[in-house]
Amino acid sequence: MALKGLDIFKLSPKKNCKECGCPTCMAFSMKVAQGAIDVSACPYFAPEALAKLSAATEPPMKTIKVGAGDAEMTLGGETVLFRHEKTFVSKTRYASAVCDCMDAAAVDARLADIAKVDYERIGERMFVEMIYVNHSSEAVSDYVEIVKKAAATGRVLVLGCTDVELAKAALAVCKDSKPILNGADASNYEAMNAVATEAGVVLGVSGANLSEIHDTVEKLEGLGNKNLVIDVTGENVKDTFANAVQVRKAALKDGDRTFGYPSIVNTAKIAMGDSHKQAALLSLFTMKYGSIVIAENISYAEALPLYGLRQNLFTDPQKPMKVEPGIYPLNGADENSICLTTVDFALTYFLVSGELERSGVPVNLIISDAGGLSVLTSWAAGKFSAGTIAKFFEEAKIEEKVKSRKLVIPGKVAVLKGEIEAKLPNWEVIIAPNEAVQLVKFMKDFA
Ligand code: SF4
Repeated sequence: MALKGLDIFKLSPKKNCKECGCPTCMAFSMKVAQGAIDVSACPYFAPEALAKLSAATEPPMKTIKVGAGDAEMTLGGETVLFRHEKTFVSKTRYASAVCDCMDAAAVDARLADIAKVDYERIGERMFVEMIYVNHSSEAVSDYVEIVKKAAATGRVLVLGCTDVELAKAALAVCKDSKPILNGADASNYEAMNAVATEAGVVLGVSGANLSEIHDTVEKLEGLGNKNLVIDVTGENVKDTFANAVQVRKAALKDGDRTFGYPSIVNTAKIAMGDSHKQAALLSLFTMKYGSIVIAENISYAEALPLYGLRQNLFTDPQKPMKVEPGIYPLNGADENSICLTTVDFALTYFLVSGELERSGVPVNLIISDAGGLSVLTSWAAGKFSAGTIAKFFEEAKIEEKVKSRKLVIPGKVAVLKGEIEAKLPNWEVIIAPNEAVQLVKFMKDFA
């Protein structure tokens, strides 16, 4: 159970020295209880008090690390069921599937498809981060060879394999990349635990129903393994959805730490080859509550809305998405290149900079601090006005850094032209079109 402010205060040093930035130990304790400050901000907590606090404030869901080097990523660590309550912590990771029931050409084609989804949106790389390597009872290819090929892509692997000896052989060729061995169930958990522990990898647990999964997780914890993920995939969509929600709810609301692990949902298994159904399931289990969601394949067209949805869900609603104010030279712009200004809202920045780059015209994109709001919102809030632009030009010493005196402003705030020219008398202000997509033609015509 989470500790209340008064409980934390009882453990605090009560020096009221203000070193933590709070006026009193009581104020500090209240902030720790709200999650607004970390207890480590006070250097005077006794070690016993810290141990007591860290056990009590431990998140209800464990944070599990998978992958190695640049591919390392975290799963889980969630504290809320709904994004509007606070924020989600670890974004859903997507996996495309290969299987030893596929022949070598089909495996190669699938791995080539995985590489086709790789682009950037609002500063975030969007790509298929994981590959699920399934072992089938109708295998036609060598499982270990497929694991080798998949590992060579640099993606994090999820080994879907309940055969203990085969899992051992597969891990022998990929354990250094820290894959997940998704292979433990009620019948083999002891042997699989030994294999996963020996290789130092995360173990995935599945079962016929939630009760069986709960028992198996408890037994694995009893063996000392808490490096687990739970595969909640059921026989059909209804069971899988119920499992995913119940596991997350039990962990976060009922304090059931046995279910406090990240989850795997295998939509390839329940979509039954229906790509439209799979696209819907990928979105559904991004929202409820797949830490890893496995697809048969994710095409570029499917990725665009899916990754957009994920990005919207897994950003902190309390923090505006913004870029750093400053001068961004594009297309090899120098001090003589024309300038264009807009706001620091990340979506605006990436849309505008993308279109400017497409134009090929050298331009200095000048971003001022507009509170992370869009053009019209920041203008209406007084955060993007002639005054704020002129102030930013002065503070950032724009006139010392750029010789051009031509400044393009967004068409939606054309009304600012006169005021900006009054405040920046050396500058010729030019009105851009209303929409970013029109910038390519505008810039080319201008050049
Ligand atoms: Fe109290 Fe520690 Fe903050 Fe000092 S630094 S006021 S002892 S909580």
